[in-house]
Amino acid sequence: MATSNSKQKFDAVIVGAGFAGLYQLYCLRKIGLTARVLEAGEGIGGTWFWNCYPGARCDVESFDYSYSFSKELEQEWEWSERYAPQGEILRYINHVADRFDLRKDIQLNTRVQQAIFNETTNCWTVMTESGEVFESTFCIMATGCLSIPQKPSINGLDSFKGELYFSNAWPKETVHFAGKRVGVIGTGSSGVQMVPIIAEQAAHLTVFQRTANYSVPAQNEPVSKELAREVKAHYEERRARGREAITGQYLSANEVSALEVSSEERQAEFEFRWRGAGGGFRMLRAFSDLLRDKTANKYAAEFIASKITNIVQDPAVAEVLIPKPDLPFGTKRLCVDTNYYETFNRPNVELVDIKASPIKEITPHGLCTQEREFELDMIVLATGFDAMTGALMRIDIRGIGDKRLKDKWAEGPRTYLGLAISGFPNMFVITGPGSPSVLSNMVHSIETHADWITACISRIRERGYARVEADGNAEDKWVDHVNEVANRTLYPVGNSWYVGANIPGKPRIFMPYVAGVPAYRKIIEEVAQKDYDGFVFS
Ligand code: FAD
Repeated sequence: MATSNSKQKFDAVIVGAGFAGLYQLYCLRKIGLTARVLEAGEGIGGTWFWNCYPGARCDVESFDYSYSFSKELEQEWEWSERYAPQGEILRYINHVADRFDLRKDIQLNTRVQQAIFNETTNCWTVMTESGEVFESTFCIMATGCLSIPQKPSINGLDSFKGELYFSNAWPKETVHFAGKRVGVIGTGSSGVQMVPIIAEQAAHLTVFQRTANYSVPAQNEPVSKELAREVKAHYEERRARGREAITGQYLSANEVSALEVSSEERQAEFEFRWRGAGGGFRMLRAFSDLLRDKTANKYAAEFIASKITNIVQDPAVAEVLIPKPDLPFGTKRLCVDTNYYETFNRPNVELVDIKASPIKEITPHGLCTQEREFELDMIVLATGFDAMTGALMRIDIRGIGDKRLKDKWAEGPRTYLGLAISGFPNMFVITGPGSPSVLSNMVHSIETHADWITACISRIRERGYARVEADGNAEDKWVDHVNEVANRTLYPVGNSWYVGANIPGKPRIFMPYVAGVPAYRKIIEEVAQKDYDGFVFS
C-alpha cells in the first residue's frame, strides 16, 4: 500500500475503467508499457457499472456494441437480446477483464483529483482524492463522455423524506416500486427506458417532462441461435460494414433525399424503419438529408408525431409528448424505447409538463409545480449528464506554464482531432470533444482511438522522444473545421446536451464531430501516415 508521500511510477496512467480504459490498458501492455488504470467506482464497467436503473440497455445493437479486437472473444460471447440489458453488458466487460487478465493493473475506489505536467521531466504527476501520487510519461483520459451526473438544482431536493434515486448512481440492491407513488423527473434516454418498467410495478407513476424528445421503438427481441450463428460466421464483414457507416454501425442508410420521393414512398420508408428493418437508430438513416434539410427533417418529425397521436389515447397527453418545432428530429440523442408512448395509456401513469408549469420545489413529501402539489413516496432523477467535458473539467489538469484545462476550455472545449490538447503534452483523450464520439457506436470509436494512441506512443518511443504535443495552429484549424461541418447540419439548432444546453452556464458549442466515422478515421490515419502531422515531437 502506498503512503501518501511515495510516488508510484508507470509509463502510463489511464483514468477510468470503462470500455475505453480497459482496451487502452490491453493495447499498452501489448507494446510493453507499464500502466495503471485508476477508477473512481468500486467496480469496473464505467457507464454499465453506474447506470443499473430498471430498463437500462444499449441502443446500439450488441453485436456491434462490443469489442472487435479479439476474434475469439467475438465467437465465445453469447448476447441474449438484440439490445443487451445493462447487467449483461457489465458481465461482458467483467469477462473481458478476466479473460485478458486486466484486473491486476486496475485500481478501484480511486478518484483522480489533479494531473500536473512537469516540464523538466516530461512526466505527469497524477494525484488522487485520498492523496496517492502517481508519476507517468503518458496520461490517458478514459473518463467517459457521460460519466458526470447532472444533479438538478431544485429547491428543497435534500429535504425529501421518501426514497430518492439518480439513474446514473443507481443502488446495486433491488429497488421496490410496488405500492408506491413514484415520480420520474427527466425524459431523455434513461427516463424513456425506465418509465415503462416502473409503470408496471408502481401504484402510481408521475412523469415530469421538460422537453419532449423523439423516441422510436427498439424492436428488441431475443437473439436466436440461428441469428447468432449467422452473425458469427460473417462477423468480419459485419464489422467492416460498420466501419464504413457514418455512425460506426451498419443501419442500411438510404442515400436518397426525402425531398426526391413521393409522400407515399416517404411514408413507406419511415414505416419500414419504425416497424420492420430492426427499428432503433435506422430511423435516422431513412433519408440522406434528415439532419441537413429543414423540410426533410420536418417530414420525419411529422411521422413520429403521427405515431404518438395514434398510440396515445388521450389527445392532450399526446400533444405534450409530441416534440416541438424548436427541436428538429435527431438533433438531441434519439431515444430508443420499448412501449414508451404506450405506457401513457395506463391508468396509473400521469404526464406532467414542467415546461408549462415548472417545478417550484421538492418538499419532504413530494413535489410542487407552479400549479399543483404531488405526494410521492419515491423520486427518480433521470436528469442526464454534464456531457463530454464534465469529467475532464472536474480534474485539476495543468499543462505547460501551469495552464489549467479549465481556463483553456472556459469558452468551450478545444482539441486536436478530439484526441489531444495543445499545451498538454503526453496527454490523450479517448472519444474527446471534436471526435465522432457520442454520435457514433462508442465501442468502435473507443477502439479506433486507443489503437491510434498506442501507435503514436510506439512512434515516440521508437524515436527516443520524450514528449508529443498537439500544435496550437493545427488545433485551431481542427476546431474551425469541426464547427464548420456542424454548422452545415441542423445539429447545432437543437437545445441538447450535444451543445451543453442542459447545463446552466455551459458554453454553447456543438461538441462532437459530425462528418462521420469513416471520414474521421481517414483523417486521423492520414495524420499518422504523415508522421503525425500537427503534432510536435521533442
Ligand atoms: P465510461 O463508461 O463512462 O467510463 C468512464 C469511467 O471513468 C467511469 O467509470 C468513471 O467513474 C471514471 N472516472 C471519471 N472521472 C474519473 C476520475 N476523476 N477519477 C477516476 N475515475 C474517473 N453508447 C453507445 O455507443 N451505444 C449505446 O447503446 C449506449 N448506451 C448508453 C446507455 C447509457 C445509460 C449511458 C449513460 C450511456 C450510453 N452510451 C452508449 C454511451 C457510453 O457512455 C459509452 O458507450 C461507453 O460505455 C463509454 O465508455 P468509456 O470507457 O469511454 O466511459
